[in-house]
Amino acid sequence: MHINTPLKILIVDDDQVDRLAVRRALSKVDNLPMEFIEVGTCEAAITEIEQHFFDCAFLDYRLPDQDGLALIQDVRAMGIKTPLIVLTGQGDEQIAVELMKAGASDYLSKSRVSSETLTRLLWNAIRVYRAELQAERANQQLRETNRLLLQQNQELERQRQQIQLQNLKLLEASRLKSQFLATMSHELRTPMNAIIGFSQMLLRPTTKGQLTSQQFDMVERILNNGKNLLALLNDILDLSKIEAGHLELKPESFNLTHLIHSTVEELQSLAAQKQLTLRVQIELKNPMVTQDPNRLRQVMVNLLSNAIKFTDEGDVSIEVTELDDRLQIAVRDTGIGIAEADLPHIFEAFRQVDQTITRRHPGTGLGLAITDSLIQMMQGEITVESQVGQGSVFRINLPRYIQLPDRDLQSLSAELLNVPF
Ligand code: ADP
Repeated sequence: MHINTPLKILIVDDDQVDRLAVRRALSKVDNLPMEFIEVGTCEAAITEIEQHFFDCAFLDYRLPDQDGLALIQDVRAMGIKTPLIVLTGQGDEQIAVELMKAGASDYLSKSRVSSETLTRLLWNAIRVYRAELQAERANQQLRETNRLLLQQNQELERQRQQIQLQNLKLLEASRLKSQFLATMSHELRTPMNAIIGFSQMLLRPTTKGQLTSQQFDMVERILNNGKNLLALLNDILDLSKIEAGHLELKPESFNLTHLIHSTVEELQSLAAQKQLTLRVQIELKNPMVTQDPNRLRQVMVNLLSNAIKFTDEGDVSIEVTELDDRLQIAVRDTGIGIAEADLPHIFEAFRQVDQTITRRHPGTGLGLAITDSLIQMMQGEITVESQVGQGSVFRINLPRYIQLPDRDLQSLSAELLNVPF
């Protein structure tokens, strides 16, 4: 142990000769500066220890006002950890165990006091004391770190709870929004169907007088606008159902080739109006598929009508291929294409590349968002490649047989069980 500053030693003994003996013995140690304070009573010793720091104290066991044991107990009760070495007289040895229990660092019979024994005891006591101090400091630091960590944990927990609360609020707001959209579009669909139905009836040639060409024109506009609005309402209803998790697929086995041909047939007039060629290329060994045919038709109509809408000349083609149990359907056009920066956003709801009010192509920006969600529900994926001015390809990859989650399987088997033989 290397010590620069003088060690502060307290000597407690009412016998001046004994005090001198201790001081002398310790002073003989070379290169070890020491500063001694001497007192003759317990009371004076306590005052000193209370007021000053000591590296070590040597106490006589027999003091005029109290014995050394009581002094040690008092000092330790005050929480002072200064090393205390008791010097016992003849016949006091049996008290040693009690002294150590009370908190003495060591003890030595006065008859064995020498420079060597005292120095050894002093060193040991100081070493233990310093180690204790260090351990205490480390413990203190640990306690402090622990306290800080606890505080941070509490703060994190508070923030987590706040975020959870906000999430719940957002979920609730989103649920309400979806519910509102679903109710509103559902309610609007009934009058819209009436408008479409009645305008179709008005356009039918009847015996009871014809419409003038101007009236015919106006009713035709009502019908077309009604159809557009109905399509929009259906899209909003679908999207809100998807968002609320209420849309369920109804898988069944069907012929994909038939479905593609009938869908293309439906859109043929739309392509013809723009003088676009609609090509179909189907390479399937097995055309049978188990998916939701109505939802797949909806996806095809979305992609094909987009391809027709965004193409002014050239053609729109649909290619269907198979690889084991996966199918690939590609819808290709020679239209305006999509800039690279816009590609990541086109599947988001209400996103349109051209969002100006005067945009050339009508639409709601919901088609691709619905398409993407439906394809995901069908356990497939949709990708797009496009070049501005050259055209786009939308590719769907999906399993031939959809794997229903347990719940759906259960309801399907329940349905099958209910089918009357
Ligand atoms: P909508 O067609 O109703 O605007 P969609 O969700 O179907 O909405 O499409 C989002 C946007 O993606 C379109 O507004 C258009 O900018 C772009 N887009 C989709 N399909 C094509 C395509 N075949 N060619 C070029 N742009 C397309």
